[in-house]
Formats: sequence, structure tokens, C-alpha cells
Amino acid sequence: MSQPEHHEAIVLGAGVSGIYQIKRLTDLGLDAILLEADEDLGGTWYRNRYPGCRFDSESYSYGYSFSRELLDEWHWKERFSSQPENLRYLNFVVDKFDLRRHMRFDARVDAMRWDEEQRLWQLALANGERYTARFVVTGIGVLTVPTLPHYEGMDAFEGEAFHTYWWPKEPVPLAGRRVGVLGTGATGIQVIAEIADQVGELVVFQRRPNWSTPLGNGPISEEEMAEIRSRYDEIFATCASTHGGFDHPPERRRFWETPPEERKALWDELYATPGFAILAGNFPEIYLDEEANREMSDYVADRIRERVHDPAIAEKLIPRDHGFATQRLPLETHYFEAYNRDNVHLVDLSETPIERFTPRGVQTSAGHHDLDVMVYATGFDAITGSWDRMEIRGTSGVTLGDKWRDGPSTWLGLMTHGFPNLLMVAGPQSVSGSTNFPRAIEAGVDWVTDFLQHVTERGITRFEARADAEKAWNEEVIQANERMLMRRSRGWFTGYNSNVEGHGEGSVRYVAYFGGAPRYAQFIREAAEAGYRDVELG
Ligand code: NAP
Repeated sequence: MSQPEHHEAIVLGAGVSGIYQIKRLTDLGLDAILLEADEDLGGTWYRNRYPGCRFDSESYSYGYSFSRELLDEWHWKERFSSQPENLRYLNFVVDKFDLRRHMRFDARVDAMRWDEEQRLWQLALANGERYTARFVVTGIGVLTVPTLPHYEGMDAFEGEAFHTYWWPKEPVPLAGRRVGVLGTGATGIQVIAEIADQVGELVVFQRRPNWSTPLGNGPISEEEMAEIRSRYDEIFATCASTHGGFDHPPERRRFWETPPEERKALWDELYATPGFAILAGNFPEIYLDEEANREMSDYVADRIRERVHDPAIAEKLIPRDHGFATQRLPLETHYFEAYNRDNVHLVDLSETPIERFTPRGVQTSAGHHDLDVMVYATGFDAITGSWDRMEIRGTSGVTLGDKWRDGPSTWLGLMTHGFPNLLMVAGPQSVSGSTNFPRAIEAGVDWVTDFLQHVTERGITRFEARADAEKAWNEEVIQANERMLMRRSRGWFTGYNSNVEGHGEGSVRYVAYFGGAPRYAQFIREAAEAGYRDVELG
């Protein structure tokens, strides 16, 4: 067998994280390459090609901030840019900085084994290739392992069927066809609203409704873009200073000290403001205080009632099992109005559950729905799924999957004890999943780069997060989660997925840090300023 190819550093994943990470490492002069499982770059924005797929962060707060030239050259055409444009953007960045030469595609890592004697990682790829690397940095994403339900007869369905993550590259004809959508999370809500007027019949299979508020998308003219460019420093500074990492200032008044009519006035304003203003600019109490949350939920329920003509349908679209913003809030464009159309039918699975799939469609307890296309918008094995599918063996021979069986455990979402020389960007228990993603990953990539510079300049060949430091971080993560009403909800923020064994109801997995972007930034800054004393360096 030939020798594995060796590099000082290997980056996994050519999505938003990996693209910036490979730039920083090669700028440092490190011998680094990037391995990407897919046939091209873009990660999330390469894969999710379903109609309606777009940012729900303001486009100009989603782009990279590291290059003034890049900021000056790129024109975001919409306030919340769509998937094809986002993929073009990432390709533009990669071409501009000539990063493609560092990338290998169709290079899925199946297994990684730590070699203590040589102090390096041995990587085995699905295509049979083997690599070794002193350092491995992962940018493998938080929502990259789609999950399907397990209904009887699904394989026997004779129409077209796919998960939204695997929406085909070739256009899927929808006109005049009978389309089913299973799932009403952020993805389902985008796809349903987008295709409602394109299909013959649309049958939405809803197990539980989600709260959702208007996205407020619109074009960005040349003049507006010039104005945005002149404010970029201010925009990124606001993002860095706010809990969720967004360009929306927080509300400073206290909920209970603000008269009800003023609360309502604020909510009217926030409901009409594009993006996540309704989260970022709201009273903090709505996340923490049952009663405050109930008032907010009642307000949004009334807005749904105003928009849906049939009162019975409106009631089915209002969540009863969780309060507003206690699960990841999807933003929508005419989603509720879709249910006013004659060709859109809501099937409430809590009343009429699916019994089985048939070759022609879906059989519920109330009857059969004939379908030509079945779309699964059923979510992901979030945050840890992309780790679990690799066999990663650390110092003791135990796999990372085993270590994280009941939930991930990390130091600052950047390292995990027992797995030396492994760095995670957008790792579990960081703020990547819980705040404006690219803002969080830029901070993560910068930290990882500074750390690797520190290490390589000193000739350090092994590092490992200390077990006690990891324990302290887990306590911080748990405390931050436990403060929030969200802790009881069933969504991917709390590691819930009914289609993954062990991730179902009753099992809370502390997968993300909810202490906010500024607090997280302070933790990682202090860790560096303290000379990385929480990491054993050797
Ligand atoms: P999700 O939020 O996990 O929603 C999955 C949906 O599928 C839920 O409605 C769920 O119902 C339903 N479902 C799952 N298994 C089912 C089953 N066996 N039977 C019936 N229904 C089932 O997944 P997602 O919508 O793909 O969103 C995931 C995350 O991706 C979002 O929260 C967001 O962070 C990100 N995203 C972002 C954007 C954007 O705008 N930038 C767009 C899309 C997605 P239950 O609620 O009953 O479990």
C-alpha cells in the first residue's frame, strides 16, 4: 500500500467555515489542504436547492467581513439573498482568493485515528485515499446530515420523493402536479410558501406547527448597496455587540415596567421590521419568563388569525405545545396566505396521523392523498450528526461518537479532551448554531488561526484541551440553556429529532451555547489572552 499523503494541516469541509479557514491557514504559510465530501464547494448553499431557500440573516451581515476589497466588490441584490446567489457569492470568494487549488472534492473522510507515537491524525477516505496531518480543523457544518421519517411503505411510493437537502439540481417540474410536503420547520415553511402557486395541488402534512413571522425581503439597489458599504464597520460592530449576532439593536426597556399598550406598539413595529428584529429587538423576558412569553405568543397568534381566512385552519397553524421563539424561529414570506388558496390543503397529523405510504401517495387515518411528488422537509441530525458519521478515534481508542453518545462535550466548542490536535470551527457547544452563523464562524476561524500560529511558531506538536476546563465549559453551557424557556421545547436547539434513535422526546442534548455572541467572544478571547492555559501544550 502506498504511503498516505501528509500535510501539516487538513481542513474538512468547503462550506462557509472551511473556505475562510483554508484562506487563513494558507496565508500563514502553513502546508494545508481542504477535503470536501461533495463534488463542489458551498456546503449548505451547495446542497439545499429547494425552491424558496434563502438567508434569514440580512445578506450584508451574512457575507465575510475579513476583506474590505471583497466588501466593496460584492453587491447583495436582495435583503435576504437566495440560494443560487449565495452559492455564486461563495464561488466568487474562492475564485478571488484563488482557494480552489487547495481544495480536493469527492473526498469524504470516513475515519480518523490519532497516532500518539507520531503525533498526527491518520485519515481514511471513502474513495480509498489516505492522508496524515499534524492538525485537523473541521468545518463540517451544523445541519448537514438530513433525516427521514420511518413510515411504512415509504420505499414503495412510485412518484418522485426527496429530502429538501437533496432537492435535484435539475429543475423539478411542479406545474399541475400533486405535491406533498412533510414538515413545517424553517425549510418546510420556505418551500410551501414558494411553490403554493406553482403546483396543481399542495398537501401539507403538519405534525406540529411552528411560530413564524414575516421575513420582509426586498431588492437592494445600487444606491442602497453603496450606503450599506459605507456602514459595514458599524454593521459588523452591532452584530458583534448583540446577543444573536444580528444587525438589530436590543430593546432596553423591561417587559413588566412597560405598559401593555407600549409593548403592543413595539411588537407591531417589530412584526413589520424585516429579519430577526422580532427576536433581537424584543424584551429579553420573552425568552425567560413564562408569563411574558405567553403574552408575546398570544400577540403572534392573533397576527396568524388575521392572515388566515378559515378560522379552523388558523387555529391548526398556531402552536400550542411551545411558546413563541422557544424553538428556532422560521421567517416566512406569505406562508400563512398560502393556506387561503384553494389548491393548498393542510393535514393535521395530530388529528389524522399517517398510517402508511402507498405507491400512489399517503394514507392517513382520514383517507388517501394521491401524490406525484413527495417532499421531505423533515430536518437534520443537527450539530453532532456530521461527527457521528465519521469514526474518529482519539487517545484511548474510544470513538468521538461514543464519547458524545448522550450529547457533545467540548471546551468552548473548539476542542474536545481525548482528541488532540483536533480543532472545530462551528463546533458543538459554540455559538455557531445559536447566533448569526458567519459572524460566529469568522470569530472561530480567527481564534483557530491565532492558536495554530502560536503552536507552530513554538514548535509545539501536540495539544489537548484539559478535562477540567471542558467540564467547566459544559457547566456554563448547561447553565445558559437552563435559564431559557427553550430548554423544554422539542427542536434541534435542544438536540431533539424524533427520527434519530436516542434523540427523541425527553432527552436534552446540550448541543449549542445560548449565552450569546458577546459573552462567547469574551470566553474565547480570554482563553487566548491567558496563554491557552486550559490546553496542554507539548
Ligand atoms: P426542522 O426545523 O427540524 O423541522 C423538521 C420538520 O419536520 C418539523 O416540522 C417536524 O415536525 C417534521 N417532522 C420530522 N419528522 C417527522 C415525522 N416523522 N413525521 C412528521 N413530521 C416530521 O428542520 P428544517 O425545517 O429543515 O430546519 C432546520 C434548521 O435549518 C432551521 O431551524 C434553520 O436553522 C435552518 N434553516 C435555515 C433557513 C434560513 O432561512 N436560513 C431555512 C431553512 C432551514 P415536529 O416539529 O413535530 O418535530
